Amino acid sequence: MKRRTFITLLAASSVAACARPVHPTIRGLTMGTSYVVELAAPMEDAARTRLAELIDAELAAINRAMSTYDPRSELSQFNGRQDLQWVPASQGLLEVLNSASLISTASQGAFDVTVGPLVDLWGFGPEYRPRRVPDDAVIERVRKSVGYQHLQADPSAGAIRKRDSRIQVDLCAIAKGYGVDRVAMILDRQGVHDYLVEIGGELRARGTTAAGRPWRVGIERPVEGRHVVGEIVALGNQGSATSGTTEDVVEQDGRHYSHIIDPKTARPVEHPAMAASVIADTTMEADAWATALIVLGPERGYSLAQARGLAAMLVTASGSTFDVRVTDAFRAHLLG
Ligand code: AMP
Ligand code: MG
Repeated sequence: MKRRTFITLLAASSVAACARPVHPTIRGLTMGTSYVVELAAPMEDAARTRLAELIDAELAAINRAMSTYDPRSELSQFNGRQDLQWVPASQGLLEVLNSASLISTASQGAFDVTVGPLVDLWGFGPEYRPRRVPDDAVIERVRKSVGYQHLQADPSAGAIRKRDSRIQVDLCAIAKGYGVDRVAMILDRQGVHDYLVEIGGELRARGTTAAGRPWRVGIERPVEGRHVVGEIVALGNQGSATSGTTEDVVEQDGRHYSHIIDPKTARPVEHPAMAASVIADTTMEADAWATALIVLGPERGYSLAQARGLAAMLVTASGSTFDVRVTDAFRAHLLG
């Protein structure tokens, strides 16, 4: 399920051009993609190895809780339940489901982690179904088991439950962001104060680069099959995420269907090639909102982001030109 990422790590590319790395990095694989931690300050090999072990252990724990690709994960077991009982849930799963619920409400249902059955139906899920356009009758049947209102998380009671036994939760639109936040938390606890964490294109920065400058990343244009860098943004102590319709597509009869599903239509979003980037206090929020804005589309997504004071950038492609909409809160991050 490795997907295209919509960012270019500018610091990383400058490393590639030099004979000697400018700053230490920790790399690995998680959630069907890769991660990179860039550290501004030098670090002994032993300390870096220890840090890498802590990060890998945390990411493995997140996968054991939230992966729908692991049938034994906590989430897969919850999905398999046929009853409406409250069940105790791990802290991380509670936190993510609670945030997901708030963002579902705030996005008028555009963000909905119960789209799992539709994601599978369209061939983007862990069942690896053939990727083709399903029959209308099947879409109508499957959409009945979707609805974020049917999922409840009670953080104070430490429990979750289904209010409709058919729902299936898919956290692919938010879990990477949560993972980035947890890696950042480990770095903070270890006394590391200048870093950039990236999992599959979702980011979190703190402090500055080795040169004492803000971390900079290039946001790529929504162009299928090619990497074209557009805006360059600076990140303070914040997270950022980008989603796009050109990321992972089903192609049939000349039409392209993206992996992001509009819960209202039960079909992949139909806008033109589009990317949405969000900068927020946590990468989890940025991740979920970036997906939500794709569902809402360039106009409604922009209006809602602006009204909520979200730092968001929505880029749509028409031919070789791009329409770039930047909310007031995002503008301060732009570096030309
Ligand atoms: P992202 O790459 O963060 O935009 O997440 C996209 C993934 O989230 C898809 O591959 C699906 O697994 C899942 N997904 C698709 N549509 C939605 C939606 N409307 N709300 C929440 N998750 C979704
Ligand atoms: Mg997302």
